[in-house]
Amino acid sequence: MSSWPFSSRREARKRCASRFTKPSIDCRIRTEGRSPSLSEIVRTICDVCCNEVDAPVVAVRETVDVRGVSVTDEFWYPVCPLCGNRIGHAATMDRNFEKMYAAYREARDIPQPDEIVALRRRYGFSQRVFAAVLGIGVASVQRYEGGALPSESHAELLRQARDPQALRERLRSGAPRLGERDRERALRAVEQQAARKMDYAVVRLDLLDRLPRVALPETGLRAFDADRLREAVVYLAAHVGSLFVTKLNKVLFYLDFSAYRDEGVGFTGLRYARADYGPVPDQYDLVMAALVDGATLAYREQGDGRVVVARRGADLSAFSPREVARLDAVAAFANGFASTAELSAYSHEERAWLETPSGEVIDYAFACDLRMPAAPLP
Ligand SMILES: [Zn+2]
Repeated sequence: MSSWPFSSRREARKRCASRFTKPSIDCRIRTEGRSPSLSEIVRTICDVCCNEVDAPVVAVRETVDVRGVSVTDEFWYPVCPLCGNRIGHAATMDRNFEKMYAAYREARDIPQPDEIVALRRRYGFSQRVFAAVLGIGVASVQRYEGGALPSESHAELLRQARDPQALRERLRSGAPRLGERDRERALRAVEQQAARKMDYAVVRLDLLDRLPRVALPETGLRAFDADRLREAVVYLAAHVGSLFVTKLNKVLFYLDFSAYRDEGVGFTGLRYARADYGPVPDQYDLVMAALVDGATLAYREQGDGRVVVARRGADLSAFSPREVARLDAVAAFANGFASTAELSAYSHEERAWLETPSGEVIDYAFACDLRMPAAPLP
């Protein structure tokens, strides 16, 4: 593991600046403000040889330590064409820190900046009200929404903001800086969100009773078992990177069809239908509404979509070691694609999808032509 020389973005800026302004040599700082990308060249002063150079930005794969979390990714550096030094360049460093911080938040389950904004807006809070509800300064909220890393205690508060029940407790017992009118309004907002979660619970009872619990050809010869599906999704949410809702449906398809191909019986007992964007569990919206109850599984806003995250570890007692190995194999398969779009495109080459009419149930017999490679299982 290489040692990352700076403990924070602010320190990096300070150190870069001080290295640039050695008093004995006359070199002025001139860097470009925009973010670098591959094949980009930044005109800057080399902080070792002190020449003004056009430095190509190169991507270097590295493992760095961010507050005890090990992060492996590509980081960018302008390299001095004269002396080969990696130049400390503030705008490039900022991009590297953004990547590191995002990975750190992911590992520690801390809301990302865009999720914080999305959460706050869902409750209809201004930054001032949101800060008062959490009991932190408005400047802190602004910094976290702008990309700064929260302290441990503030990270815990931000996690709580995902749960309207927790916010309701805070509003009832604390938040002294909030005026009466703001408190009333905030309480109504969090209670509305809490009620929406209750709706999901009602749907779950209805839906899971309605799904067929008999082994049929169209369910991969397995009787649907809600607990088995839930624990499989909890496990996958922890092992597949950025498990967008649209990614999960492909992952489940490969889980069930590879199990059917290799074992002669599906994994979850779900039926699949052909949707325009790929194979998808039948009544997928309802299945997801049933599974994502906010307690075991929850959504997190990320980019343009919602990512499924687990709120607890999976209970694997219902699975054989071979079945756990299959979950791992499917997770590794999905993680081999750079994006959900790539995995989606791959699934569009499946005979199961190509040869099933739109909206029709997909025949598990197509599993024999599944393009996912067979993994060595115990
Ligand atoms: Zn140089």
